[in-house]
Amino acid sequence: TYVVTDNCIMCKYTDCVEVCPVDCFYEGENTLVIHPDECIDCGVCEPECPADAIRPDTEPEMEKWVEFNRKYSEQW
Ligand code: SF4
Repeated sequence: TYVVTDNCIMCKYTDCVEVCPVDCFYEGENTLVIHPDECIDCGVCEPECPADAIRPDTEPEMEKWVEFNRKYSEQW
């Protein structure tokens, strides 16, 4: 899955939302988040993010961001 990380805080871009084929972006408190169970890992959103905030969860130390994205996407 891909995850939204701290560069997204207070960002107002929604380029990622527009390109996601499965609409798995949700609004968090001050970031967007990706629902980790709905993301199909296509990678389309990653280069679209002007803030470089979207990372694959295969990078090191992404566990807390996976939990963060899950927490705020599951409230919807
Ligand atoms: Fe959506 Fe693909 Fe990005 Fe996952 S990787 S959030 S499915 S655009």
